[in-house]
Amino acid sequence: MSFADKTLNCRDCNAEFVFTIGEQEFYVEKGFTNEPSRCPECRRANKARRQPEGGNSYGGGFGGQRQDRQMYSATCSECGKPTEVPFQPKPDRPVYCNDCFRSNRPPRQYDRY
Ligand SMILES: [Zn+2]
Ligand SMILES: [Zn+2]
Repeated sequence: MSFADKTLNCRDCNAEFVFTIGEQEFYVEKGFTNEPSRCPECRRANKARRQPEGGNSYGGGFGGQRQDRQMYSATCSECGKPTEVPFQPKPDRPVYCNDCFRSNRPPRQYDRY
């Protein structure tokens, strides 16, 4: 059984790409019987699209959505209402519900929250 580099056409973008000996060996090793129908670039794009969740790499960026944030239940030190805070409540730190939090902080710091 001998291998040789093969030139194939991508099904998606029609670009020519080389199905290298190394890749062919890899395919055989994995038991794949089909030749790749897409160029490496489209294959990568396709794989990324099919991935259900980004896993750990997701959320590393700035401006993550609020819903990803872990919330802790707490009781407001000001009005005693049950509330949720985006940090672990500490016994020696007061915890405020949204209403009290807002009235206790100047608006400038609010966007850090
Ligand atoms: Zn392609
Ligand atoms: Zn409150």
